[in-house]
Amino acid sequence: MFNALVVNKDEDSGKTSAAVEQMNLDQLPEAEITVSVDYSTVNYKDGLCIGPGGGLVRKYPHVPGIDLAGTVEDSSDDRYAPGDKVVLTGWRVGEAHWGGYSQKARVKADWLVPLPEGLTTRQAMAVGTAGFTAMLAVMALEDHGMEPGHGPVLVTGAAGGVGSVATAILANLGYEVAGVTGRPETAEYLKSLGATQIVAREEINETVKRPLESENWVGCIDAVGGPMLARVLGQMKYGASVASVGLAGGAGLPATVIPFLLRGVNLLGIDSVMQPYANRVRAWQRIAKDLPMDKLEAMVHPATLSDLPKLGSDILNGQVKGRVVVDVN
Ligand code: NDP
Repeated sequence: MFNALVVNKDEDSGKTSAAVEQMNLDQLPEAEITVSVDYSTVNYKDGLCIGPGGGLVRKYPHVPGIDLAGTVEDSSDDRYAPGDKVVLTGWRVGEAHWGGYSQKARVKADWLVPLPEGLTTRQAMAVGTAGFTAMLAVMALEDHGMEPGHGPVLVTGAAGGVGSVATAILANLGYEVAGVTGRPETAEYLKSLGATQIVAREEINETVKRPLESENWVGCIDAVGGPMLARVLGQMKYGASVASVGLAGGAGLPATVIPFLLRGVNLLGIDSVMQPYANRVRAWQRIAKDLPMDKLEAMVHPATLSDLPKLGSDILNGQVKGRVVVDVN
């Protein structure tokens, strides 16, 4: 027997409820690899899946948890053997498939990557999908010509998971980082991660009034979307790129095309879920090299399976600072 956080749905009221339950291995879905999970984490999407599902969960009972790290216990795939340390993010695990809020998980070999050298399973989950996505965004901006020494990079939703990791990586690579936050009390925290400038959310959250403003940013990692992303496009330096990662502030984009046409600004889409294997391995290697582990530790809030129902609603309300690491044992 083992423990898992299970979300059940009442068919009459349509309401969901999440609680820790005992399970046995026979209840796990069929797949090649059984993982003994050490840690999971809490991302924005997890908040949706712990709660009413946000359209992501199709079948109940459901075990959420879009990330996991642990040790292979049983494998029918040549790529992995018992004892191997592994990490899983994406592939709709924790949404369409049972996920990491469980002491055991059964998953496809294709979904795993070997735990990168230099990281523990706990550190990998302190990174999680949020940090992995932040790294993908940095890589995309670099691939489009961003280099240190040419001005500040803007990070929106800076005190959140993606934003915190992005800030720490960029600062460590030698970039000036300006963090946008709606929580002024996080300013010291953001500076400790390496931000040199704090931008108040309300300064940049308004609808576009002028399609072009002064050219401020050499790059942007945007976790917020909506009117903020629209404003940011008009503030980018000539030829600079914005990596669009999230929609914490809305899925709309009330922008004009003028920054693309007159300043050659690029809008780069970042997806972590279906990212091909080679790029996953490359991103995890970069994380192990470019994310200072003391900064990562400073972002971590430890939690257990029974804390998850509350943490799920906290993250949807923008109340989680940094990264939650869930010790499922
Ligand atoms: P968090 O909740 O940890 O961070 C989001 C941050 O955005 C908050 O901490 C807050 O930062 C800011 N924010 C929240 N609400 C608003 C608002 N209404 N207006 C402006 N800013 C707001 O979530 P994550 O970092 O885990 O994820 C961030 C986004 O990225 C989510 O939308 C998520 O779905 C998306 N995402 C996308 C991925 C992909 O593959 N593309 C992968 C991972 C995440 P502050 O308090 O500092 O203002």
